[in-house]
Amino acid sequence: MPSDGKTSLTMSVAQREALLLAPYATFSATSRGREHPESEHPYRGPFQRDRDRILHSSAYRRLSGKMQVFTGEMGDYHRTRLTHTQEVATIARTIGRAIRLNEDLIEALALVHDIGHPPYGHAGEDVLNECLRDEGGFSHNQYGLTLVRELEKRFTSYPGLNLTYEVLDGQVSRVDKSRGQPQAALEVQLVDAADSTTYDAHDTDDAIKLGLVALDEMSQLPIIDECLRFVRQHYAALDTELIRKAVVHRLIELQVTDLIEFSLAELNRWNFASQAEAIQSGFRIQPSPVIGEQKRELEKFLYARVYRHPQLVMVRQRAQERIQKMFAGFVADSQLIPRKYQHRMATVGVRRAAADYIAGMTDSFFEETFAERFKTKSP
Ligand code: MG
Repeated sequence: MPSDGKTSLTMSVAQREALLLAPYATFSATSRGREHPESEHPYRGPFQRDRDRILHSSAYRRLSGKMQVFTGEMGDYHRTRLTHTQEVATIARTIGRAIRLNEDLIEALALVHDIGHPPYGHAGEDVLNECLRDEGGFSHNQYGLTLVRELEKRFTSYPGLNLTYEVLDGQVSRVDKSRGQPQAALEVQLVDAADSTTYDAHDTDDAIKLGLVALDEMSQLPIIDECLRFVRQHYAALDTELIRKAVVHRLIELQVTDLIEFSLAELNRWNFASQAEAIQSGFRIQPSPVIGEQKRELEKFLYARVYRHPQLVMVRQRAQERIQKMFAGFVADSQLIPRKYQHRMATVGVRRAAADYIAGMTDSFFEETFAERFKTKSP
């Protein structure tokens, strides 16, 4: 409060959070800080600063040139890794606000969650994993950590973005997920649930728009059938394009409402007094059993009919062959690797440095580099 007796119009981050967040949320005031201690910012909290650092990083911007599921050759309607990330952040914030979690932390976690994807998404990841089989493998989650801790350059005296331990822990728990369900803050769990909500909806949208599947055919799935019924009940005589949009809108709304209602009911039942209690309890932010089952059916369908569509399988195979060839080329002649990654070779070896360089590329930069250096000249 100002000493002249006037009421202050500003509110500190701690005051805002004390007013708005539930006891089970992560509070900025109890943050464990950063590896390299920094003084507090006058009006941005620690997680807001993390969000901004991620947003302004070059790895984040490059997500615009990385495929989510569909490639640039297939048009410009569908999601890229960047627009997917933005949708995840928006949906996660909506749910986080409703269940009174820390929105700044949620946003930072959402913006960073896919930052480590190599070109050509999971196809790129699989082939780099194969290339590094004897060196501990490659995962986009682990590479995301490498990016924000080591490869991004922001400060003169140390590498990386110097993010808070809470954001790094979130990414570590994504790495650990391959070894079972790790204990994690509710904000981390929420971003995970929002990720699945988001891709289930937008992959449905993109697949129908691209003509890989028909909405009619998808209506055999209970969750799509329910959305379709809702749309037909509430809107008369929509054309095909608008029906698809309305169904996808409903698909998001249905999942988000379910996550909020189911989580709130469970949180009320548990009645956690602190974040630590919530983390240790084994409680998970997840869809209700009914919607959870319906989502699994939808995901099975998307897997079989969309992700394994012959058109996509072909794109992925071609990309994997080229990535493998580029990797072998860099390993055989490390002088082709830019200086920044050559420096890394001293600590991580030529194979990891080559994979790190390739993983940072956008799809189109990868293609340009490949055409320039590795394309076999036709006779
Ligand atoms: Mg994602």
